[in-house]
Amino acid sequence: MQRFFVSPGAFQGTQVVLRGDVAHQISAVLRMRAGDTIVVLDDSGWEFEVRLTQVGRTEASGEILERRPASAEPRIRLTLFQSLLKRDNLEWVLQKCTEIGVAAFVPVISQRTIVSHPQGVSGSKIQRWRRIVVEAAEQSRRGRLPVVHPVVRFEQAVAGMGGFDLSLIPWEEEKDAGLRATLAAAKEEQRGPVSVALFVGPEGGFAGDEVALAKAHGARPVTLGPRILRAETAAVVAVSLILYECGELE
Ligand code: SAH
Repeated sequence: MQRFFVSPGAFQGTQVVLRGDVAHQISAVLRMRAGDTIVVLDDSGWEFEVRLTQVGRTEASGEILERRPASAEPRIRLTLFQSLLKRDNLEWVLQKCTEIGVAAFVPVISQRTIVSHPQGVSGSKIQRWRRIVVEAAEQSRRGRLPVVHPVVRFEQAVAGMGGFDLSLIPWEEEKDAGLRATLAAAKEEQRGPVSVALFVGPEGGFAGDEVALAKAHGARPVTLGPRILRAETAAVVAVSLILYECGELE
């Protein structure tokens, strides 16, 4: 069944009114009709099965048949602090990591980030990133929409790490600390971390002093094994392994 995230304002009692992109998608792209059923999500962790009662080009409405908890959300809140990558690679990371179960993304400018627009990342680009995440969340049956935060500098990002139970920074120069052992140690210390921050570097990797700064703020450097992965591969692999070790991918 097709799934759509909508703003909470779309709900009016037992009715749902869909506008904008969602209405266009329903009427023009999917050519749905009155009587068809869809699933509507308000990003609260609940999902609503809705029967369409009227479908127009700019507005569609329906009645709620059932409300149930969305079941596909990980218990762990994993925030991916991803250094900016070449356009397609970053968008790929947003899409894949949404499917796998990341709760929030923070795009980061680090020392070796190749910034194509020194004046900053435009609002329209962030809007595009958010659309990619919405589509991936609908497709993968997420019950909550991963947040895409504004771009921050690496120093700012590590300064905010105190809010997480555990922070990990995969670093190709780390030879000893493995991901599994580091997660196991964290579980012992705090009976299962609930919020985890994950820092993945840019194409050129993190500089040594960036890793030192992250460590000073409490992050734990980890290796992802002896092979050097491209940044976008490292993001997908690290996210998958963390959620797997925490029992979220079975
Ligand atoms: N330019 C560097 C590699 C950077 S890889 C080099 O050639 O040595 C990009 C990012 O992916 C890194 O900053 C790190 O966060 C992550 N990464 C890739 N392979 C890794 C590995 N084997 N262990 C830990 N982190 C890795």
